[in-house]
Amino acid sequence: MKSFRKELVFNVPSRRGFINITREVEQALHESGIKEGLALVNSMHITSSVFINDDEGGLHHDYEKWLEKLAPHEPVREYRHNDTGEDNADAHMKRQVMGREVVVAVTNGQLDFGTWEQIFYGEFDGRRRKRVLVKIMGE
Ligand code: ZN
Repeated sequence: MKSFRKELVFNVPSRRGFINITREVEQALHESGIKEGLALVNSMHITSSVFINDDEGGLHHDYEKWLEKLAPHEPVREYRHNDTGEDNADAHMKRQVMGREVVVAVTNGQLDFGTWEQIFYGEFDGRRRKRVLVKIMGE
């Protein structure tokens, strides 16, 4: 069995944003040479997510509104976590809702997606360098 590891780096210039990282994961799969197996993609930070859904701008706008309703950034003083001097309690919660990682089947050297599936990095506390781990195992 072969094993391949790669870190992707993102620096979202705003506090929040969604980035389609499907091409980067496909590139990693190509580099791995693995044809049959599993690809794990996870955020290496507790204030950002990796998830699978549709690459549709309206949907991303709806996520932003929905997440802000669930865990509004302001007022930052409402959160106990922010008593530590941070202002990112909402980002921890948004990450929890949108998830840490995805696992995608690798079949015949391709990511074996369902209809319209794409992989996204969801940033909830950006404006700094953050990492995503890609681990691919198989033959
Ligand atoms: Zn924090």
